Order: sequence, then C-alpha cells, then structure tokens
Amino acid sequence: MGIKEILKKPGFTKADIVQLLNAEGEEAKILFHHSAKIKEENVGNTVYLRGLIEMSNVCDKDCLYCGIRKSNELTNRYSLNETEVLNAIKFAYDNRYGSVAIQSGELCSTAFTSKIDNIIAESKKLTNGEIGITLSCGEQSEETYRKWFNSGAHRYLLRIESSTKELYTKIHPNNSNHDFNNRLTTLKTLKKIGYQVGTGVMVGLPFQTVEHLADDLLFMKEFDIDMCGMGPYIEHKDTPLYEFKDSLIPLNDRFKLTLKMIAVLRIMMPDINIAATTALQTIDKMGREKAIRIGANILMPNITPGKYRDSYALYENKPCTDENADDCKNCIDVRINMVNHEVGYAHWGDSKRYAKRK
Ligand code: SAM
Ligand code: SF4
Repeated sequence: MGIKEILKKPGFTKADIVQLLNAEGEEAKILFHHSAKIKEENVGNTVYLRGLIEMSNVCDKDCLYCGIRKSNELTNRYSLNETEVLNAIKFAYDNRYGSVAIQSGELCSTAFTSKIDNIIAESKKLTNGEIGITLSCGEQSEETYRKWFNSGAHRYLLRIESSTKELYTKIHPNNSNHDFNNRLTTLKTLKKIGYQVGTGVMVGLPFQTVEHLADDLLFMKEFDIDMCGMGPYIEHKDTPLYEFKDSLIPLNDRFKLTLKMIAVLRIMMPDINIAATTALQTIDKMGREKAIRIGANILMPNITPGKYRDSYALYENKPCTDENADDCKNCIDVRINMVNHEVGYAHWGDSKRYAKRK
C-alpha cells in the first residue's frame, strides 16, 4: 500500500506506522503535508508558550543517557532558590506567556517536594491565579502529586522514554529506582489524580528500531495522553550510553525521524498538545519551527536565569545557553511568524484532548 492510501485509513496498524516513519523524499512530503492539514483543522495555527524553568540539575537517578545523572561527577550542580524561580515566573507572567514548565532532576526529599509546593502556591498568588503550571520533576509518590495538584499544578510531563520494557531496561540501570512497571503505574496515577498528562520518548537511541518507535506511538494512543514531548536523543560523552555512539544513526536522520514521529502522532491524535522540543533546535537552528509547521503547537522558551543554563546539560551543544530570558523573548514572535503561526499570548492553551476526555 502507498503512503496516500495509508493516510486515508481511519486508524494505523503497526506496519502502517513503520511505513510512514520510513517515508523519504516525496513520500515524506506527503506525510508532512497531511499532518500539517490535520493540525490546522484541529488545533489551528496558534502556538502556546510554556516558559521553561530548569530548576535544578541535582538528581537522585542515574539514567544512562542523561548528562546530569547522579554519577556524573563532572556536572556543576545548582538549584535555583524559591526567589529565583518566582522571579522567572513573574517574568513569564509579565510577558504574557500564559504558562510555565518547571523541570528538575528527580528528588523525593521533603525539602524538595515542599519547595515545589511553596513555589506553586506563591506563583498563583503572584499572578492572580492566572499562570498555568506544568511540572516535570520525575517520579514522585501519589501523595506528593496530589499535594502539588491541589496547590495548583495542572499538567505533568513524564516521558515513558521507551514503551518497550526491554529497551527501557537497556537505557536505565537495572534497579528498583529505574523500574519500567513503576514508570507505567506513575503515569496512570497522574491521570487518576486529574493532571493533563504528557509523555514522550527520545528518538534515535542506541538499540532502538523503527518498530520500537511505532509501538511508542501506539502506546501513546492507547494510554490516551493529553500532551507529548519527543526529541532526538543526543549523546553526552560523560554518560554510559556514549559507548554506543558509533551505532547511532546520524544526527540529521534522528532529526528527520523525530519530525516524522510528530507528524504521525498528530494524525493519530489530532487534538493533543505536542511540544517542539529544545533538542530539535540543537540539531537544526530552525528545528522547532519545522516541528511547528508539521504538527507541534507548544513552544517552551527557556526562562532559566542565563548563568545556570550551561549546567543543565542533558546533552552536548544545547542551544541558547549563553542567553537570558529577554533574548529568547525577542526572537519568539519572529520565529513563529516565519512559519505562518501566531503566539497565543496570555492563554493556557490547554490540551483539547483533555477537555474532551473529561
Ligand atoms: N528528571 C525529570 C525526568 O526525567 O522526567 C525531568 C527532567 S529530564 C532531564 C527531561 C527529559 O530529558 C527526559 O525525560 C529525557 O527524555 C530527556 N533527556 C535526557 N537526556 C537526554 C539526551 N541525552 N538526549 C535527549 N534528551 C535527553
Ligand atoms: Fe535525572 Fe531526569 Fe536525567 Fe534521569 S533523565 S538522570 S531522572 S534528570
């Protein structure tokens, strides 16, 4: 069956998805054209902002791919204090960003969970309850998630990283702190509490095949996610997975494959929110804009104070680490307008899927 026929089908099989992800040249163009149309019809051409605050690179976990993993002694550790986080949130509010996303290494201490809780409560006071809050602070207890939800956080991002247990196990240490089943249960808990739940995967990991990626998309559909963040895997020399760097597909192919993942997901789940991730921009200066053109509708401009950005090095050559929030602000409109989209200032831009699910 040709790409055009597959795209007419009401639902995709795994084999269909594999074929779409393998599309090249003219066929890839047809896929992107179709996903752009589906996107326009379902979520329009407005891009919503989540001011990204990389709160801390202190992490209790040791994911084998991540530059800020606990065992990387070369990482210069930092944690923003509450005032620094609230200043960044105030910046987002004053500049009508609508929402912030607080991301951090994973810590479960009371000091950490209470700090996040205070920040959520204070940021609501600071912004008349107007700022939307997405959290991405890893796996936590149900009690902690409930506390944060009750304080005002309403979206949570926790990537499944890979929906194939066997692959998940290869990219994480083999211990109870990095347990695949726990990851799944945690995602279900977030949904049960009432969060808009986002997940995602890295694309181009060692040992990963297109079949794995097709399964990831089917997993997202089956789980009925509200949001998604997917980015290319970018190797970091101070991590254990670096040893497999020679087996990776070239960076440009990881980039193209990520765009195809976004396009296919947009077709499979027309009304979810999909982020144009920073890792795309690392490979291609216009990476996030290209993702927006073919399916993404969320942008996460970095508003972490500039002096900390170098230290949040999940992978190498992360973009804009030498900039401050103001610099990012200046280029948002220009970049979004370049791809004939507009920014939905001062709006939460919640997942339409979530509204329907509820
Ligand atoms: N610690 C939290 C967690 O793991 O959910 C949130 C922060 S974590 C740094 C955010 C995401 O960064 C992870 O879910 C992972 O997919 C991504 N990431 C980590 N290392 C990466 C790498 N080398 N290349 C691309 N993405 C990476
Ligand atoms: Fe920690 Fe998240 Fe990096 Fe894993 S991916 S080591 S949990 S910051």
